[in-house]
Amino acid sequence: MQIKLWGVRGSLPSPLTNEEYSSKLQRILKLAVDKKIKTHGEIDSFLDSLPNELRYTFGGDTTCVTVQSSSGKLYILDCGTGVRRVGNMLMEGPCAQGKGEINIMFTHNHWDHIQGLPFFRPIYVPGNVLNFYSPYKNQKECLEKQMSTPFFPATFEGTPSTKNYFLIDHAVHEPIILEEDLKVSIYPLKHPQGCYAYKFEQNGKIFIFATDTEFTGEIIERMDNKTNFFKNADLLILDSQYTLNEAFLKVDWGHTSYTMAVNCAANWNVKKLVMTHHEPAYSDDLLQENYLLALEHAQNLGGVDTEILLAVEGMVFEL
Ligand SMILES: [Zn+2]
Ligand SMILES: [Zn+2]
Repeated sequence: MQIKLWGVRGSLPSPLTNEEYSSKLQRILKLAVDKKIKTHGEIDSFLDSLPNELRYTFGGDTTCVTVQSSSGKLYILDCGTGVRRVGNMLMEGPCAQGKGEINIMFTHNHWDHIQGLPFFRPIYVPGNVLNFYSPYKNQKECLEKQMSTPFFPATFEGTPSTKNYFLIDHAVHEPIILEEDLKVSIYPLKHPQGCYAYKFEQNGKIFIFATDTEFTGEIIERMDNKTNFFKNADLLILDSQYTLNEAFLKVDWGHTSYTMAVNCAANWNVKKLVMTHHEPAYSDDLLQENYLLALEHAQNLGGVDTEILLAVEGMVFEL
């Protein structure tokens, strides 16, 4: 499987401001002067040596992740604003001729997880087939509502692509078989109005996507007493929106602190944890600060073998 991150910001799109861009630029140029960069040839290695918060921006688009199975089929998880660029990529292939078949899965219907769909170009091309998978019986209605008068000039049902809806019934407790060797299962999460985690399994590898969820010590303990959906993942992309202090101030808001996210990964024997759904009010500097504190927390816990990363738009993982 190949997993790619197209949108990692939580709640609402948060592009880099001009002030933040200028500040990054100033700091980079000062470092370049300190390192006495003199030739164009030295630029690439200089850029590689920059700390994360200067090397790039963590990203401003809201949640969207793609999973490409080993057969090459693409599955889109959530349609935050990041899906706009997935659409642009797909329009370079069969979707431009109306010959595309696109699989989209939804964790829930909060705006930051569906708001990119009106700007997903393949829906406007007749012939393209969109397969929507969702645990919600009203999925169709939710997508139609956000593109209704007077909120958007086109209606969703009026767009010329073909739309199919498939209900993933959580009560069935059986994974759905998407391809001969690709299984997907879901798990309900603590979040206002609900949300579901998705688990993809192929060739003995496990990828779990769990955005918009509020894990607490109590929930982790309760889960340890039964079969744990999250155990032994090779890659877990997990909501880590808040600092621990903010999580205490925002109990029941439905998001996890990076500290608790590390506890989750350590408890569940996760190989790689990617912290996502970044708080829109946090700058790149603050996100990096939180990331370093998360690494320190893992070290203090002792014996944590999990590799911990902060989600960055454009990141790709191969399993
Ligand atoms: Zn969200
Ligand atoms: Zn949400």
